[in-house]
Amino acid sequence: MAELEGLEFGKSDFVLLDEVTMEQFMENLKLRFEKGRIYTYIGEVVVSVNPYRQMDIYGKDNIEAYRGRELYENPPHLYAVSDAAYKAMKRRAKDTCIVISGESGAGKTEASKYIMQYIAAITNPSQRAEVESVKNVLLKSNCVLEAFGNAKTNRNDNSSRFGKYMDINFNFNGDPTGGHINNYLLEKSQWCSDEMLQSFHLQNDPAVYVYTKEGAETVTSNNDRSSHKAVLSALEVIGFSKEEITSVYQILATILVNIVGQEVVNHISELTATDPESVNKSLLYRTVATGGGEVIEKGHTEQDACFGRDAFAKALYERLFGWIVSRINSIIEVKDYDPVLHGKNTVIGVLDIYGFEIFDNNSFEQFCINYCNEKLQQLFIELILRQEQDEYQREGITWQHIEYFNNQIIVDLVEQAHKGIISILDEACLTVGKVTDTVCLDSMDTKLAQHPHYTSRKLSPTDKSMDFQKHFRIRHYAGDVTYSVEGFLDKNKDLLFQDFKRLMYNSANPVLKEMWPDGHLSITEVTKRPLTAATLFKNSIVALVDKLACKEPYYVRCIKPNEMKSPVLFDDARCQHQVAYLGLLENVRVRRAGFAYRQLYARFLQRYKMTCEYTWPNHLMASDREAVEAIVIQHGFQDDVAYGQTKLFVRTPRSLFTLEQERNHLI
Ligand code: ADP
Ligand code: MG
Repeated sequence: MAELEGLEFGKSDFVLLDEVTMEQFMENLKLRFEKGRIYTYIGEVVVSVNPYRQMDIYGKDNIEAYRGRELYENPPHLYAVSDAAYKAMKRRAKDTCIVISGESGAGKTEASKYIMQYIAAITNPSQRAEVESVKNVLLKSNCVLEAFGNAKTNRNDNSSRFGKYMDINFNFNGDPTGGHINNYLLEKSQWCSDEMLQSFHLQNDPAVYVYTKEGAETVTSNNDRSSHKAVLSALEVIGFSKEEITSVYQILATILVNIVGQEVVNHISELTATDPESVNKSLLYRTVATGGGEVIEKGHTEQDACFGRDAFAKALYERLFGWIVSRINSIIEVKDYDPVLHGKNTVIGVLDIYGFEIFDNNSFEQFCINYCNEKLQQLFIELILRQEQDEYQREGITWQHIEYFNNQIIVDLVEQAHKGIISILDEACLTVGKVTDTVCLDSMDTKLAQHPHYTSRKLSPTDKSMDFQKHFRIRHYAGDVTYSVEGFLDKNKDLLFQDFKRLMYNSANPVLKEMWPDGHLSITEVTKRPLTAATLFKNSIVALVDKLACKEPYYVRCIKPNEMKSPVLFDDARCQHQVAYLGLLENVRVRRAGFAYRQLYARFLQRYKMTCEYTWPNHLMASDREAVEAIVIQHGFQDDVAYGQTKLFVRTPRSLFTLEQERNHLI
């Protein structure tokens, strides 16, 4: 909040706005963007606007400037929150997390990289080799996940079609000892687009199998070639064996193969170490158990065969990605950590996750993403707003109640057992017989007609704005989104024929076999339905929120200034939309009503008693609180504080800044 930049750059903290209105907020955001100030605070939250150009603010000098400093001592930066999270972790042994959110292309992944780089730069000052190698592996694993998890979409050249949560573990010295990655994959349907295939640096060409056979590179451009090399070397550095790396590329090649004839079937069988006859069979038949327990082979129609093949390719990719993540985890996991011997093992978690999405056509994927964002908003409310308010109440500080929208009701609409949308979807998927997307929509319309955040098509049968017969609308906290139910059921079901799972499980390649443990079941044993995509996603998001909820959170809110990837264009309407659904105004309101800093009286005294003649070296007053009052009065910021039961609350960090400077003079 320091006025370290001239006023011509706007206000470095939205808390300092004259009035908290959308107009003022946008004016400040735009001014700062135009002046090349891409970061602005809301208290401890960093609002970031994608500059779409290389900024000269991430170098060694910058790292040094932020290292060990307080937020208000430097202009807003990702490094400042990274340092705050690191300090909380190191000094107070708190687990912390940095939640980075925003829409596709807003700069989340770049931000997570800068945060990781900062943490890597400030740790292990003595350059111990083991720590350096851990850091290196952590950074490299990022590179691998980027390569495998990203798709080129029209909104972002390097869009992560997955959310990624990475825990970094630290020892008592504050040095990284390992980590753990969780991934939240989505958009299966996009994974195997041609662009996607290109981003594997392989070509969609049956001859591609030569690639793995002879090690020839079938990359398309110099750029691809060098990033391919980077991925390869990253895999090696992380600790993947030669056999594993070969298997990875063999599987990628398998996904790429265009099945057109017997010759190609032979390639596949070669790549997957399975016998050609079985490959052929899985492609053309499916094994089914009859009611009487008899096992028969049923020939596919051409349509079923194509469908099965595509589902197989997608599943291969999904399993491969999951396997890579679990391999990385087994390598970077902290082993043999003895808390008695080594002290508490603390964690900084970094979450890079897609923000709220509203497209012209919203499908199952947007439904999942937006549900995830409702959950994260719930957590934000929980952690920031409620904790704040509770603390003020506990401390007996007068607090003006802030009205904020609690989105729990929308979370329930989606996830509630039996009544929520996911339950209704799952039920439809389990129903035997011809249940179509529209039948499922009927069921939702009936069960949810009364819900204030759900608009049934029955309620607006005359809505001519679109083909409303296949749509439903959710009033999200960030705005209304109309979803097309088309494809919901298929995307929610596990559509892979068991025959493919068995085929892969029987591969002579141990890596491939390991990815398909469920392939060992014989057809008569497969009775339990696998969990649906929506339920799996829900479970993983619930687990994620649990993980975050016990950490001290820091937030980075990313904004995409325009759709053209332009470094000079600030699209007012688009930006305002993002500010609205990120809940930033509400955030400023809470911050302004609140106190930026709070500290236990005793600890405050410990740090600042030297700055006041009545408290140095020891005070003779009746209580620590009175001693703290003496310090506050001596420095003249009595109007900027409130006294709680156990803590001093300071409204603006500037007061504290004065104290810190004084203290620095004296020591
Ligand atoms: P997201 O992960 O939110 O989808 P990315 O982090 O991949 O978005 O950013 C998209 C693109 O925007 C990047 O490839 C990069 O070109 C540009 N970009 C984002 N943040 C920055 C930054 N801080 N400095 C320079 N360019 C950036
Ligand atoms: Mg990304």
